[in-house]
Amino acid sequence: MFLFRRSVYLDNNATTRPSKRVIKRMGAVLRDCYGNPSSLYKDARDSAAALDDARSALAAAINAAPSEMIFTGSASEALNTVLKTAYELFPSKKILITPIEHSAVISTVQYLRGKGARIEVCPVDSGGFLRKDQFALMLGTDTSLVCCMFANNEIGAIQDIKALSPVARAAGALMLSDCVQALGKIPVDVRELGVDYAVFSAHKIHGPKGVGALYIKSGCPLVPLIHGGHQESGLRAGTEGIHNIAGFAAACAEVPGLLSAGQKLSAAKTRLETELRRLKPEIKVNSPHENCLPNTLSITIPGVVNSVLMGVLDFYGISVSAGSACNTQENVPSHVLKAIGLTDEEARSTIRLSLPEDITNSGINYVCHVLSDYFGGRCPGVTMFTPAQVGEAALLGGGLFILDVRFESDRRALKGLPGSREIPFFRFISYLGKVPRNKAVLVVCQAGFNAPLVAFYMRNKGFNNVGFLAGGLIGWKLFNPRLYEKHCGRDISGL
Ligand code: PLP
Repeated sequence: MFLFRRSVYLDNNATTRPSKRVIKRMGAVLRDCYGNPSSLYKDARDSAAALDDARSALAAAINAAPSEMIFTGSASEALNTVLKTAYELFPSKKILITPIEHSAVISTVQYLRGKGARIEVCPVDSGGFLRKDQFALMLGTDTSLVCCMFANNEIGAIQDIKALSPVARAAGALMLSDCVQALGKIPVDVRELGVDYAVFSAHKIHGPKGVGALYIKSGCPLVPLIHGGHQESGLRAGTEGIHNIAGFAAACAEVPGLLSAGQKLSAAKTRLETELRRLKPEIKVNSPHENCLPNTLSITIPGVVNSVLMGVLDFYGISVSAGSACNTQENVPSHVLKAIGLTDEEARSTIRLSLPEDITNSGINYVCHVLSDYFGGRCPGVTMFTPAQVGEAALLGGGLFILDVRFESDRRALKGLPGSREIPFFRFISYLGKVPRNKAVLVVCQAGFNAPLVAFYMRNKGFNNVGFLAGGLIGWKLFNPRLYEKHCGRDISGL
């Protein structure tokens, strides 16, 4: 194992680093535009002007009219607003989605289904592309809204929205496209796409978190999600976060530059893929080779548990995503990977590498070095305990030091293992001095994603006998329901 350590960020689809221009603009707006844009005096007018400029900048970036744009608190909020509008205005019609939408869509339609909404899911093929034959059949004449993302966040598949929109329109349906991952990576022109609604998020294009935008084609209906003042033409109440909105606009000014990095990103991605295949020929690439975001590479590495690999990479300063639901409440494989045909096991062996525009050759070399060491067994290992291995004897025998790194909300949802010591996941490093080094340590989290990270870190810090509970407490409880009722919640304390 080589010794130098650096930082390589390969999670640009999760979020991006705010650019210098964005930070500067936000600082200036926070300082100078504190007036409420709904008021009438000079300070307020300055804020209203900043808001107006930002709306124009965003509209220009996607070829919309400023009057067709509203700002929201996130892309999730914008998606919720449109989906709920469709159900509220056309309750007897169906909403047609793809199975690879972001959870902001999937969870919202699940909620609406619970209220009685008709939701149908049009299948995708193994590349993640909507099955156009099925789409035409499923649309019928009773679809209120089609919701199809432009580019997928996990595998990078780019949908042919331009071809789908006229089909939806001909069937009398409105068309919503989640363009969050597309903006800044591929050209987005809402007129050319022919959509009625499109959704964007600032933090995916080097802007701030907590601000999204919704394009509503002139004449299309929208029922506000948040009621109150008359902000955003009465469509989204709440005093505008002008610094965030201005930061979004500053990020939009950089979209042409981001787009021009596309070729470099594609080349870097190809190099990474080639190197990875050389290191481990059995790797399976889930991202399509054509019509794919230039920066997104989803790979399945047979025999590798993604959460453990993430732990290894994290220790060496490399940030990637699992490509499966890193949800602390559930232990379910990614719905996107399942929809393109991966098994649960394959999904749990999958990671997503999403390259930033400033990726360098040496960054890629470093990642390949670490992976080569990991594949070659040259990284220290941690023990993976299955739920079956953590039975009554292991729990009560006194040989295990159980470190519970769950979040507060997880602790409320499930009782901890008996005798466990609780520490906060975000701050686990500052507690490690209190963990005995002469005992076997079992790290436990809710769903099995966070514990391997902690265990791997500890192993590298000299804890030679450390492991994690595979599947987390959720998996353990499913396997040991009787033990859960009998022992869990007993003798638990903070560290
Ligand atoms: N849609 C896609 C495709 C995304 O990748 C994301 C972010 O993860 C969202 C929607 C949600 O964006 P926001 O964080 O602004 O709610």
